[in-house]
Amino acid sequence: MKPELLQNKKVLVVGLGVTGWSVVRYLQANNIPFAVADEKAPSSDEARALGDAVLYAQFDKTVFAAVDVIVLSPGVPRSHPALSAAIDNGVKVIGDIELFASAVTKPVIAVTGSNGKSTVVSWIAHILAQTEFNAVLCGNIGQPALDSISDVADVYVLELSSYQLESTESLAPLAASVLNISDDHMDRYNSLDHYAQTKRHIYNNCEYAIANRDDARTWPDSNDVSANEVTYFAIDTNAENDYRCIERDSEYLLVKGNTELLELSSSRLPGRHNRANALATVALLAPLGIKQHVLQSSINTFAGLPHRTELVAKIDHVLWYNDSKGTNIDACEKAIEAMPGPVILIAGGLGKGADFSALRDAVSKYVKALVLIGRDRQLIADALNDLASVRFCDSMNDAVQAANEIAVAGDAVLMSPACASFDMFDNFEQRGIRFCEAVQELAA
Ligand code: ADP
Repeated sequence: MKPELLQNKKVLVVGLGVTGWSVVRYLQANNIPFAVADEKAPSSDEARALGDAVLYAQFDKTVFAAVDVIVLSPGVPRSHPALSAAIDNGVKVIGDIELFASAVTKPVIAVTGSNGKSTVVSWIAHILAQTEFNAVLCGNIGQPALDSISDVADVYVLELSSYQLESTESLAPLAASVLNISDDHMDRYNSLDHYAQTKRHIYNNCEYAIANRDDARTWPDSNDVSANEVTYFAIDTNAENDYRCIERDSEYLLVKGNTELLELSSSRLPGRHNRANALATVALLAPLGIKQHVLQSSINTFAGLPHRTELVAKIDHVLWYNDSKGTNIDACEKAIEAMPGPVILIAGGLGKGADFSALRDAVSKYVKALVLIGRDRQLIADALNDLASVRFCDSMNDAVQAANEIAVAGDAVLMSPACASFDMFDNFEQRGIRFCEAVQELAA
């Protein structure tokens, strides 16, 4: 939807979080009048920044149904009764990415998936920083997309959540990928298929679709895609012509079909899941035609992101890993599998209704002790306590102390909670920092 299409329309911005504010700034910059609805009262500074926009303090069916276009924040579900009523009344409901799509004139590389999004978009941006392309990283990571539109951008690297994709129609990425699908956000979707289908909206109108051969829910079907080309990456499957990773003389090589592309050092980003991320990164970059030697010289210098299977200390031959962003079962499982030795797992928090027995296989193979924190620790213990010893702790500090008592040389202590953090911490970053601080105290 072009900004001018919003002219002379009654526009309502619903939700004033980080994204909602980027929408407000965009509308103001384009001289498009709007009203705002948010259930939280704005601060005096925020009220001033809204200018003369009418502010509704409630999500009111009558108000919502009386406008032409709602620009919805990703945090507000479309199933909210006031929105359903508006949709039934013919109100167009779009998100920030729909406005971004109409405004950008440069290629977009778009990435979604249950896990690995931030890692892949950051890896792509890291590589592009060594090229002539001026790449702008935005969306669900860092700066909101609308705040990132820039005349000097050559390419946008856009991380998208399923929430954002619910209200996006006309984004036409140069390359797009659903990296993987696993159980998450089941409070918002009625099934895993519904969640996957929402994520696959990213393929609509894209030129190159990049899918995960090992995960059929990421595969575009004719309903999703008008891509010129569908390319796959694969770790488990051995299909010709896919981007794959092979091991030779204890080194990893990225190949496409039978063509060797790059040598990958996995030391900085451990585990098979990060090899899959590397493959997706390279496949998504292919349409830009980056030179091979530039790819090779930059792929192994990416240090990974904090809080994602991040090696934070080695103390008395015990390795300590911060995987605070491991907020769901699949991320935790992949992190366990990536560890170089027997694992002492610190986990727990808000389980979001997940079934922790899905960790049984990885725990039985690799985990020798569970140190459990947070509200849902009993649920985790119930699902796994016949496989490994269990200790309950009331703080991250105690958990680190407990893990330290158990660990012997050669072990890896992994904090990968498989849960959200909000019962004990402000967010996953704070949880990770607390873990690192407690580990540093051990070393002191
Ligand atoms: P997202 O942005 O999708 O949340 P991140 O890159 O921030 O993804 O990583 C989130 C968590 O998922 C971390 O715990 C990380 O170790 C794990 N992870 C990263 N890549 C993958 C992958 N390809 N498959 C499964 N888990 C992954």
